[in-house]
Amino acid sequence: MQGSPESTRSAEGGTVTLVGGGPADPGLLTVAGQAALAEADVVVTDRLAPLAALDSLPPHVEIIDVAKIPHGRSTSQETINALLVEHARAGRRVVRLKGGDSFVFGRGHEEVEACREAGVPTRVIPGVTSAISAPELAGIPVTHRGVSQGFTVVSGHVPPGHPDSTVDWAALARSGTTLVVLMGIRTLAAITAALVDAGLDPATPAAVVADAARPSQRTVRATVGDLAARVVAEQIGAPAVVVIGPVAAL
Ligand code: SAH
Repeated sequence: MQGSPESTRSAEGGTVTLVGGGPADPGLLTVAGQAALAEADVVVTDRLAPLAALDSLPPHVEIIDVAKIPHGRSTSQETINALLVEHARAGRRVVRLKGGDSFVFGRGHEEVEACREAGVPTRVIPGVTSAISAPELAGIPVTHRGVSQGFTVVSGHVPPGHPDSTVDWAALARSGTTLVVLMGIRTLAAITAALVDAGLDPATPAAVVADAARPSQRTVRATVGDLAARVVAEQIGAPAVVVIGPVAAL
């Protein structure tokens, strides 16, 4: 709706800046992300973002935690998009603060599209994704010369065989590269079973890193064959990143 009165108003100052906040520790927020926060009138955040970074903002800054508004965890993307557009059209500088990087399973580009369709100027500041930093904070490199020449990051939100799954788990089992799974704790047993069924050696090293970059950070190292049982036994919950491949033993 370019040219509508609303978009004219937003062009007078209202903007939306998506900030990838890193895995949780505000020390891992970028300098550009911090600068955007320091200039914000409104911050729309969710629960995996580095919330401690909000403590130093002046009191006039409105903070909207979309995980806390009624039906929070399931606040629809449409509601969030509408919120961003509404505040920007009112002439405010809106920061949309997310965990990790906004474009890694963060629905960030949906928000960019919604803002652009509404004629709201939009900027994206990359963040440190948990896909790489959670293993790294546990001492696990996703690549290592002579051990792994690459890594694949997939969502475990729906398990192998689920009608909505588009991941070729058998191909991943043969890939010879490190496999990093986000949102894969609830589905971990199904994922490791599918990989082993497809020929991955159950003795392949594997690890889970939970609560990365928080004081509560925990790591479980195991093999693909026993990782799911160990995670249950040690009561590891989300948020956690799963790493599968020989690098997990380094
Ligand atoms: N955009 C985020 C990912 C969002 S999906 C990023 O780039 O990191 C949410 C998943 O990210 C969680 O289920 C978990 O797998 C992972 N995750 C996010 N923050 C994490 C943290 N501090 N420690 C471990 N895993 C984390």
